[in-house]
Amino acid sequence: MSENKLFDTDLFAAETSHKYALALVNIKGLGVKTFSYLIPDDIKDKIKIGQAILVPFGRQGLINAFCVGFSNYLPEEIRAKKINKILDEKPLFSIEYLKLLEWVANYYCCDLVTVLNAAIPMKLIEKAAKTEQAIEFVTFDGATKRQTAVLELLQKMGKTPLVAFEKLAKTTRNTIKKLDELGCVNITTEEIYRNPLDILNIETTEPLYELEGEQKTAYEGIKKKITEYEIIRQNPDNDSVLPPLSILLHGVTASGKTEVYFKLIDDCIKSGKNVLFLAPEIALASQLTKRLAKKFGTRDVAIWHSSISEGERYDVWQRLYEDDIKILAGARSAVFAPLKNIGLIIIDEEHESAYKQTNPAPRYDAKVVAQKLAEFHNCPLILGSATPDISVYYRALNSGNLFEMKHRYRNAPIAPVTVINMQEHSRAAYKSVISKPLQTAIQETLAQKQQVILLINRRGFSTFTQCKACGHVIECPNCAIPMIWHAKDQLLKCHYCNHIEYFPEFCPQCGSDALRNSGTGTQKIEQYVKDLFPENNVERIDSDVLVRKGEHIRLLERFQKGDIDILVGTQMIAKGLDNPNVTLVGVISADASFNLPDFRSSERGFQLLTQVAGRAGRGEFTGRVFFQTFNPEFYALESAKSQNYRAFYEKEIITREEFDYPPYSRIVRLIVSSLNNFRAEKAAAEIALSLCTIIEKYGISDRLEVLGPSPCVIERINSYYRFQIIIKNKLDLKGHQFISSFLSKVIMPKDVKLAVDVDPLDIL
Ligand code: ADP
Ligand code: ZN
Ligand code: ZN
Repeated sequence: MSENKLFDTDLFAAETSHKYALALVNIKGLGVKTFSYLIPDDIKDKIKIGQAILVPFGRQGLINAFCVGFSNYLPEEIRAKKINKILDEKPLFSIEYLKLLEWVANYYCCDLVTVLNAAIPMKLIEKAAKTEQAIEFVTFDGATKRQTAVLELLQKMGKTPLVAFEKLAKTTRNTIKKLDELGCVNITTEEIYRNPLDILNIETTEPLYELEGEQKTAYEGIKKKITEYEIIRQNPDNDSVLPPLSILLHGVTASGKTEVYFKLIDDCIKSGKNVLFLAPEIALASQLTKRLAKKFGTRDVAIWHSSISEGERYDVWQRLYEDDIKILAGARSAVFAPLKNIGLIIIDEEHESAYKQTNPAPRYDAKVVAQKLAEFHNCPLILGSATPDISVYYRALNSGNLFEMKHRYRNAPIAPVTVINMQEHSRAAYKSVISKPLQTAIQETLAQKQQVILLINRRGFSTFTQCKACGHVIECPNCAIPMIWHAKDQLLKCHYCNHIEYFPEFCPQCGSDALRNSGTGTQKIEQYVKDLFPENNVERIDSDVLVRKGEHIRLLERFQKGDIDILVGTQMIAKGLDNPNVTLVGVISADASFNLPDFRSSERGFQLLTQVAGRAGRGEFTGRVFFQTFNPEFYALESAKSQNYRAFYEKEIITREEFDYPPYSRIVRLIVSSLNNFRAEKAAAEIALSLCTIIEKYGISDRLEVLGPSPCVIERINSYYRFQIIIKNKLDLKGHQFISSFLSKVIMPKDVKLAVDVDPLDIL
């Protein structure tokens, strides 16, 4: 990775005096890399960062590349070849853009080329511009009577796309050809920009709604913040660096958050600036784009995500670079689209894990990148959610940038939740997966011809140990996360710090001997439900189903139409489903999501239960929700029952502080893996040891805490044995730089891999 060293910030400065240009190339088999090339004299004053260029590359001959920097020295010992030519004088990105990517590389402890690779679609160079032929009137001279009629129409229409004109004039390609030969018309080739939204055919736009009650208060509060921020920012006496303005809009589902965003967008556009709007998934981004296009017109709105076609990507990129788009909506990767002149960034459903890329590197979080982008543009960032990320809520609360909407729009009711204590029911109806009250509720719902969702919230691999008498779960004394039962070794292990315990004979809380290892598969439960309700149509959605392409969407569509009575599934069914005929939601084992060996499991469990409960009773019928649990007093469950986010937060934040989890630290996770178990463990131990030594040497062990190595919860993936080192960093970006510089000196054995994940989603 020696190439990365070239990216000294000052090398981004485009000066004509530089001898060499850095070219980003995509080589078959090698992937994306950078190389130095000599700049020939004749293009010295033309070459710019962001241009597509043509360079020679070994036996492959001339290949396309991007100019991403300049230098005056050559790191390689070899003689550099010359750039052949500039393919397009119009650059596709700016120096500021590269600076943002450089920051991302530093934050995520990876090299810039990896970030460039994720951010800039290399296909852009291949000039995917779409052209179409247009026809224009020249003269009537020499035309026959029938041809004259065609020409008259054309004269009236002016320059028209050829295909469209042929249809309109009910004429043939042959006639047009003859007219062209006669010189009566002029046919040209024009570059056209495709806009995927054109097919929506939205001609008139709808007015924005008048905001009411809590919405209005939230909107006005946010506006006030933005105005105050502008005043401070523009005050010439203020020379300290101003942190970006980051605001959280916490509103229960259907409280009307989207309408608040729309008002803010409208204000931003009217002030002459552009808006970036992120949604967690492609499907949600598409829905959102339609809603935006209806309000603001298709002309000014564009969509960006990983699945748009290469042609569309090229066109949108060009238009962004020309500052021709006012609102860009998209999924995670849209944070890297080169939108200019940004006046507002919105991230909806900010708690969703899809904002973070887990694999491959760069393992970036669009929320973190957006924060930096907001800083670059001096613009506000608005995060919205019904179940905010704990760290986001913490920061918003402590900076006074929190706005809350506690009721649904027009006070529509939220479905009440019943908690079923399985300690009682499992004794009564022995070993029953579905308790009697839930069974009865399902029967009643089916009798009304209404639909049921059953959530099985477990991810199918961990086995935690729980007391069936009091609900207590065995946790690590160092880490406050569940210990995992290892049948092979007959031991309980902590997967953060490697603490080990024997299986206790008696429950440490109530002294009973009812400690059991828990965990049941989704298929087993599906079968169980089918046996209970043989007359009804039961289907399952989990990751097994996802293997078949389109199956997931097909099942959801059938459920929406009413073809499925009971939908059984994992967390995938908790999101976005808006079926007014669903009046019952049952959670089979509410404990399962809380008992993953992860510091974020309570947060994730709370979010999941709150979101899934929000699926019931969205139409005219009132809904009901049931949570089955062995641990009814668990705080996260109690607050999910009452849909009380604040109550959950107040408890959760105490554990975070006590154990130095985020927001009180940032976590960096190192994963060391190898086909050879022993070699992986050895390499991990060596890294941990030398990291600890250097941290000691600098005297910062109170601010960079190293845990492990320990086996990952998922001990083996694709035959690779995995070990992890967890670093709790209380030094922010400086800590990352420290770790980054340490890692750059680590030499890994050939058969061992190292992956770095900054702010990991989980530690499994
Ligand atoms: P959220 O984004 O919080 O889930 P939405 O903004 O989608 O909620 O609002 C829920 C529903 O209420 C939508 O159908 C929306 O159009 C409607 N709605 C919200 N606010 C208003 C308003 N001020 N006037 C009219 N309809 C509104
Ligand atoms: Zn007990
Ligand atoms: Zn531990």
